[in-house]
Amino acid sequence: MKNIYRFGYQKTDGSVNLVDLLGGKGANLAEMTNLGIPVPPGFTITTKMCQTYLKNNNFTKKIYKEFNKEIGLVESILNKGFGSEKNPLLFSVRSGAKVSMPGMMETVLNIGLTSKTIPGLISKTKNERFVYDSYRRLIMMYADVVLEKADKRTTKSGLSIRLMMEKLFSSLKKRRGYKNDSDINVIDLKKISDKFKKVIKQELSIDFPDNHMDQLVGSIQAVFKSWNGERAIKYRKIEGINHKLFTAANVQAMVFGNMDEGSATGVAFTRNPSTGDSNFYGEWLPNAQGEDVVAGIRTPHPINKNSRTSMTKHAITLENEFPSIYNQLITIKNKLEKHFKDMQDIEFTIENKKLWMLQTRKGKRNGMAAIRIALDLYKEKLIDVQSVFNRVNSKHLNEIMHPMIDPVIEQQMKPIATGLPAGPGTASGRVVFSASEAENIAKKGRKVILVRKETSPEDINGMNVSEAILTTRGGMTSHAALVARGWGKCCIVGCNDLVIDEKNKKIYIDNLVVSEGEWLTLNGSEGKVYGGKVKLIKRDVSNNTYFKKLMLLSDKNRNLKVRTNAEQSKDVLKAVEFGSEGIGLCRTEHMFFNPKRIQFVRLMILAQNEQDRKKILLKLLPYQQNDFYKIMKNISPFPVTIRLLDPPLHEFLDLKKQDIVELAEITGLSKQQIKNQTDLLHEVNPMLGHRGCRLGVSYPEITKMQATAIIKASIKLLNEGIKVFPEIMVPLVGSINEFINQKNIITEIFQDALKKEKVKIKYLIGTMIELPRACIIADKIAEHADFISFGTNDLTQTCFGFSRDDIGSFLPHYLNKKILTKDPFESLDVDGVGSLINIAVKKARKVNKKIKIGVCGEHGGDEKSIYFFNQKDFDYVSCSPYRVPIARLAAAKAKHLKL
Ligand code: PEP
Ligand code: MG
Repeated sequence: MKNIYRFGYQKTDGSVNLVDLLGGKGANLAEMTNLGIPVPPGFTITTKMCQTYLKNNNFTKKIYKEFNKEIGLVESILNKGFGSEKNPLLFSVRSGAKVSMPGMMETVLNIGLTSKTIPGLISKTKNERFVYDSYRRLIMMYADVVLEKADKRTTKSGLSIRLMMEKLFSSLKKRRGYKNDSDINVIDLKKISDKFKKVIKQELSIDFPDNHMDQLVGSIQAVFKSWNGERAIKYRKIEGINHKLFTAANVQAMVFGNMDEGSATGVAFTRNPSTGDSNFYGEWLPNAQGEDVVAGIRTPHPINKNSRTSMTKHAITLENEFPSIYNQLITIKNKLEKHFKDMQDIEFTIENKKLWMLQTRKGKRNGMAAIRIALDLYKEKLIDVQSVFNRVNSKHLNEIMHPMIDPVIEQQMKPIATGLPAGPGTASGRVVFSASEAENIAKKGRKVILVRKETSPEDINGMNVSEAILTTRGGMTSHAALVARGWGKCCIVGCNDLVIDEKNKKIYIDNLVVSEGEWLTLNGSEGKVYGGKVKLIKRDVSNNTYFKKLMLLSDKNRNLKVRTNAEQSKDVLKAVEFGSEGIGLCRTEHMFFNPKRIQFVRLMILAQNEQDRKKILLKLLPYQQNDFYKIMKNISPFPVTIRLLDPPLHEFLDLKKQDIVELAEITGLSKQQIKNQTDLLHEVNPMLGHRGCRLGVSYPEITKMQATAIIKASIKLLNEGIKVFPEIMVPLVGSINEFINQKNIITEIFQDALKKEKVKIKYLIGTMIELPRACIIADKIAEHADFISFGTNDLTQTCFGFSRDDIGSFLPHYLNKKILTKDPFESLDVDGVGSLINIAVKKARKVNKKIKIGVCGEHGGDEKSIYFFNQKDFDYVSCSPYRVPIARLAAAKAKHLKL
């Protein structure tokens, strides 16, 4: 295996297939070269070398020799010399892991500028200003990235070296009245470079290296060390990126976007990353280096008309300013999309009217764009149907179902400020000014909006916990914008209307002042900032053409049916709108918590004998019957699985003083008697106690009442000509006799009613599988049950012995210590719970080939768990209404997934 691979010229030996070794950036630089796209020459030092370097903390002599050889090759191609006094070659060093981690690791530009090479470059370019501009950039970056961060030096003053230099730089600009960096003259650039070097010496007690090779090696080492930098580690943790991937280092000949007026730099997306439309979309800056566009120091211009926003309506476009280069860029963009079969995020530099490509990678996009791009690429025959599914994930779908302000109300609202619409959706929160404050306040359960001049990778955790991010600087490709878009988080950048006073924790907008802790609402899709807290409504995706197309395509390509867990009409209707094919779990106790009905439930529990209990149950019957009627009507002709009463009874007896007084009055019992009875119901382990089918066994009259309500509602609907298909589900069965006991009660009630009314209704009686014992005896159960539905919430609880309500107290330790890699209540534990399910499915099917098998625990809406259920040939998954679209898509993905 080689340590170094080349790109940018005929000897290119890398390719996209070597992404593990070369990282995304290096592999794609090689791939672009292979496609005949102009890339400045250079070489990639592999991720393997990074690993070795981080282990040994040094390079071997052999590696230095290899560096020299590669440098020599680049020198011979460009006819320049690294360190040459006459015609110097400069390098950039950039990180590049296999997975993109925007802004998390380091870059050093203009490497090789020293007291020896500076005069040579000046005489070659005849542009002294450009050379000193590049030099001051090198000093700033090198001091920050190498001398301070990588080498772990601290300044005497305690401030970061970069901040100190930035302060010196902006005070120089202020003193001299410079508006833009590009206005600064050469004398001032020389002066500031000297000042920077002095500050480095004073603050870090080291000279800025005046040797080209020292600069290069220092930069490569810093890039490797940045893999283990605090912010990179944090980012990997949040994004779930493997810590063992490591980064490659890309050493590349510099091309200069800041050389003269014929030079420029830009970043672009081959399609719009916010809407997904196929227009080329990007930003550029004349006479600038790449960092200027991304860092938000100058507000970039749009590359074409389509990239204009309300704020850049009149700015010059690349299309007008450099038309032939723009056309070249269009050809390259088409080539890249065709080759990579996906939307690309590209970086380019124009040096003296020549176009160079510095990077291409898969472009981050929001949910809407992900769906539209996948469908468009499918239509363009660039990808197959399975790729469409694989390119959209549950995060994307969640995002397009995000809240928004009622458009009618919003029309009447006046924004207090506007900025660039960088991340979609709408969010309200309290203003905070630092990432750490965001973390502190969010921990208390409060919603926050992080307001910053611009964000940096150090802010990553604070950004993650914030509802939205608002920055006064930056463009659509700035750090805040990229990170927020990747997360599908509401975000507005470049909001110049705001002036932030960080010291006094205030924002000034003309005469308006917003202090820390006050509410703001952001519409990140339109870049509008509103004062105060605004009521948000859910976005209606059901009329979205692309969403609908994706759902229909998923439906055509899946085996698993998707049902919903719901009992309230509005939820049932929402689920129907989202394409639910039935109810997989109607939790009947949820119908009991209504204030009117709970009184009857309490009276039923307090009833002193069967007779009294039956009387009270008769009062509950019409409510239940009516509820079942509505549910079955709303979702007809699909089946409805109704679960008999499940929770421990004490859950209904959280009595306040007033409740006790009222109950005493109605029942004639004393307050003490009521207290005693409720105390009696208190259990040490209620989750393992008097619940589930155990209630129906103890109080058959409850089962009878519920069965009566179901069959009466069904008959009524049948008489109205509405198709019904009830499925009665017995909860928490652990032994076959429990099930038979309940099945007999239900059957008798159903048969009597059907006989009396002289009608026929197809119905099923089945059980939930929620206990390990039920899995083991699933064959016995299947002899009597028409269906089984895995209650994976309880099954996870009883399999692990983890309390589903208390896992939060120890789960973080388990995740931190890698005892668990994920919350088993969120995503199915395939090894343990999955094995139990496997046993149950096999046993059940052996005795009852036709048995219907489903899942109604939370895992029914989790993408990864759905793959498992699909693999086991389940008939359906059931999940909450908003997860129905996610499950439809996941089921389609799962069908073709090779595990
Ligand atoms: C389950 O246990 O997975 C289930 C769906 O039932 P509940 O969550 O109501 O206990
Ligand atoms: Mg359960």
